[in-house]
Amino acid sequence: SSEKDAALSAAAPTADDAPTIFDKIINKEIPSKVVYEDAKALAFRDISPQAPTHIIIIPKVKDGLTRLAKAEERHIQVLGYLMYIAKVIAKQEGLEDGYRVVINDGPSGCQSVYHLHVHLLGGRQMNWPPG
Ligand code: 5GP
Repeated sequence: SSEKDAALSAAAPTADDAPTIFDKIINKEIPSKVVYEDAKALAFRDISPQAPTHIIIIPKVKDGLTRLAKAEERHIQVLGYLMYIAKVIAKQEGLEDGYRVVINDGPSGCQSVYHLHVHLLGGRQMNWPPG
């Protein structure tokens, strides 16, 4: 029935909710060096580090948040939470002198994985402007 079709398409992942490599990391289907985990967030070392400390912090539930540009009011809490966790991990990593927190958005922002994530970079002098 068309009702059934509608229900099925509502359940099917949209392009925005298509799984990424980060889902496999969350589900432990592929290994990662986890530095922090709780019910809402996961943080692990970037496979291609751009600084001595380079950690990716992600929400465990994407909820349509493929990129910052897709943020809605319902995401405000998780976005704030990721910032707070960045600070917690920075302290855990001993980045007492400072660090950088980055969100790449979309093609011009050089985003490659469409599951919103925060980069935490530190352990060397950062420069401005970034590349
Ligand atoms: P983006 O370019 O989307 O802002 O950042 C994605 C980041 O995820 C990149 O820095 C990339 O190195 C990292 N990354 C991609 N695939 C993997 C993976 O399988 N494991 C880990 N640990 N990091 C990954």
